[in-house]
Amino acid sequence: MSDNPENIVLVLGDQLDTEHAAIQAADPARDRIVMIECVEEGSHVASHKHRTVLFLSAMRHFAESKREEGWRVEYTPLDAGRESIVNGLATTFAETPTAALWAVEPGEWRLKDAIERFAAEHSIPLRWFEDSHFLASHERFEQWASKRKQLTMEFFYREERKRLNILMDGDQPLGGEWNYDKDNRKSFPKKGPGALPAIPRFEPDAMTREVIDAVNTVFPDHPGRTDNFSWPVTRAQALSALHQFIDERLIGYGRYQDAMWQSEPFLYHALISSSINLKLLNPREVVAAAVEAHQDNPDTAPLSAVEGFVRQIIGWREFIRGVYWLKMPEYRSRNHFDHQQPLPEWFWTANTEMNCLRQSIGDTLENGYAHHIQRLMIIGNYATLAGLLPQAVCDWYLGIYVDAIEWVELPNTLGMALHGDGGVVGSKPYVASGSYINRMSNYCDNCRFNVKARSGDDACPFNTLYWDFLRRHRAALGKAPRMNMVLKNLDRWEASELDAISERAASLRDQPV
Ligand code: FAD
Ligand code: SF4
Repeated sequence: MSDNPENIVLVLGDQLDTEHAAIQAADPARDRIVMIECVEEGSHVASHKHRTVLFLSAMRHFAESKREEGWRVEYTPLDAGRESIVNGLATTFAETPTAALWAVEPGEWRLKDAIERFAAEHSIPLRWFEDSHFLASHERFEQWASKRKQLTMEFFYREERKRLNILMDGDQPLGGEWNYDKDNRKSFPKKGPGALPAIPRFEPDAMTREVIDAVNTVFPDHPGRTDNFSWPVTRAQALSALHQFIDERLIGYGRYQDAMWQSEPFLYHALISSSINLKLLNPREVVAAAVEAHQDNPDTAPLSAVEGFVRQIIGWREFIRGVYWLKMPEYRSRNHFDHQQPLPEWFWTANTEMNCLRQSIGDTLENGYAHHIQRLMIIGNYATLAGLLPQAVCDWYLGIYVDAIEWVELPNTLGMALHGDGGVVGSKPYVASGSYINRMSNYCDNCRFNVKARSGDDACPFNTLYWDFLRRHRAALGKAPRMNMVLKNLDRWEASELDAISERAASLRDQPV
């Protein structure tokens, strides 16, 4: 307990959990919840309209639920014109100068820094609460990382499974394997995925419609449209989305996790990232739901699918967060390959001749969502091969996806997709030629480029850029594990072919098609 007469409990847009640590420590008879909508959070990167509507609507619903529980909630709406969170806090503390500030640590270093500076400048006592939403505390991750030269997600994941006793049989993994990749990561048959399970849609209620109007007024030029908004904005909706996934799509999750198909943006994916990142869902209940489904019926929730899903939540998601807080703030400015190309204009329109990118960016602009392999092996792959400036790419990802918050976006984009961190998140770059895309999707069937060709005007740009990338960065890539085999291909080709590839690649980089 603080000696101050009142604590101001700041609740940020991605902290809408029922177990919010600062709210749990506060006293509704004495303390006040403060929530601030501000222009900066929707505009420091060009935020997709779905993303902004989602955050603000979920915040307003959360505020209402807290009022119903008896809390005093001071809520500043977007049209009050607060420039930033700190700007909003300044108004609150000008009226209540003796209060202390309580908050759960934010998901962005930038915001944590701004709040700390604000509190220090105004001599406001600030108490940070660790974010109990996550399974691995900072201390736990730091202790794990301190023993290693290379941070490998797989080893972190195995330790976490043992520590948390998830899908374990004594000290061995349930079923005898740590992963079931041999059963997973398939492409669809030639005729396609067939009838897919419906995905959840949540029609905007009056509160969401008000937010939509505000967003269209304040951010009219931001990407996306609002008439198709249907993301979950309350805990009840998020739980319903989770259970619909577990009941209807988990069965195909592992098997088709990496598959892509024209005009099918959602496939068997969970579509829970925005809910879990806003903390409408807790990772413990998400994992428990999948594990229970397997215990109840392994035919509809096979171990391969459940393990693949659990790995994403307790492995990748926590690992990525650990890397972010371990490496920030210098991490954000890394540029391992010294890539400098600007973002092609079609990142904002999807108007490119490359069908795989037209589909993946088109899905993104339409829904504020693309699934992992579209983000990694289509858009991220292109960005790496074309040498786009990592910080411009990261800003795009941070603004464009409904689930984007810097702690999760940055290591995924800069680290996993762009290898811009020089190998912290992944030991080698996730780059591939058109043949990978052709194997995992039907995009190439509908493309004007020839996926079999490496050079020339009709050659698939992924092929040309891929081989040119390997050639340009050969010295650095040669040190990465498992790259030697592929680099040896370059030695077999005529110099004239390599020159033709380089020439065409330079033109593709300067004038993206
Ligand atoms: P599914 O594919 O069904 O996976 C289930 C859940 O696992 C997700 O909801 C998510 O919570 C978790 N998960 C899976 N992979 C990851 C991962 N690599 N890192 C963290 N959590 C993971 N995820 C975000 O939540 N926010 C981001 O801003 C984000 N940016 C990304 C940028 C790039 C370049 C890449 C390659 C990946 C990014 N991811 C991000 C990870 C992943 O693509 C999304 O979590 C996933 O596509 C969300 O859709 P889903 O809920 O249908 O997930
Ligand atoms: Fe993409 Fe190349 Fe296939 Fe066209 S041919 S869809 S550019 S991979």
